[in-house]
Amino acid sequence: MIYNFGSVNVDNVYRVPHLVRPGETLASTHYVQVLGGKGANQSLAAARAGAKVEHLGAIGAADGWILALLDSAGIGTRHLATLDDIPSGHTVIQVDDQAENSIVLFPGANRAVPNEHLEAAITAAQPGDWLLAQNECGDLSRVIELALAKRLRIALNPAPMEAMIAGLPLERIDMLFVNRGEAQMLLAALGDQVEEHDHQRMLDLLAARYPGLELVLTLGGDGVRYANGELRLARPAFLVEARDTTAAGDTFVGYFLAARQQGERPEAALALASAASALCVQREGASSSIPERDEVDAFIAAQA
Ligand code: ADP
Repeated sequence: MIYNFGSVNVDNVYRVPHLVRPGETLASTHYVQVLGGKGANQSLAAARAGAKVEHLGAIGAADGWILALLDSAGIGTRHLATLDDIPSGHTVIQVDDQAENSIVLFPGANRAVPNEHLEAAITAAQPGDWLLAQNECGDLSRVIELALAKRLRIALNPAPMEAMIAGLPLERIDMLFVNRGEAQMLLAALGDQVEEHDHQRMLDLLAARYPGLELVLTLGGDGVRYANGELRLARPAFLVEARDTTAAGDTFVGYFLAARQQGERPEAALALASAASALCVQREGASSSIPERDEVDAFIAAQA
């Protein structure tokens, strides 16, 4: 089982002729409301990859449709708290005709997950289950502490990155996912300066700091690098025409962790996650662009 402690956002996406200016009132020409948040995206990706997932977090009572949507994707919602007094995390996203965007984020219920809820969820987990977390929900250090005490395996994707992450007991977790910007910021917070294009050095520095971890460094169109003890792997990205890279990282994290949890070897998990993300970047949207497992298997088979 993967217990994913993660954000759930309601994304409100408005099409506008230009991004609204100070003092201006602007009519939008198109509007959609969709499920978003790194947490929800990663739960969807892991579930679509075939893993059993329980989502931990909180939403506002007005958004029961989110429970129904996650349920229908096979994701457990017993540990997703419904709060009466705080609205769901949500965004107001403007997208203009040049595909430029601007985003207002209200963290809402994501930052108000009741402690007793978190404790109940971790108590329900069995040693050997995975805890997955990003950095859009509070209190990351508490959930890691609870998971360590319960001897869960811990996978962390510290996005968005902030200096506080370097103070977490990362040497005691099992798997760390970072993109190159996150790797650079984490290393800077630890006192190591490294150029953003120096991928090998980034990975080597992280591996020296955290020798017991599986490290996954995603590099956008440049693929991915991986370290696990003495093992080093690198994989180029699939050559595809990228239209929208939103949720590429979330797709990668969910698929990779699901594959590893199911006993796949690192090489195979990297291939699966790279293929899933390559499908994701060819589609517009966030959670809706995360592919189903049979599509990913078909894509891999077509490359052979
Ligand atoms: P994030 O979204 O967290 O910044 P990345 O941009 O590193 O994550 O992308 C995650 C993974 O998605 C990459 O390792 C790669 O496998 C895949 N990916 C991203 N961009 C492309 C692209 N242009 N073409 C093919 N695959 C891509």
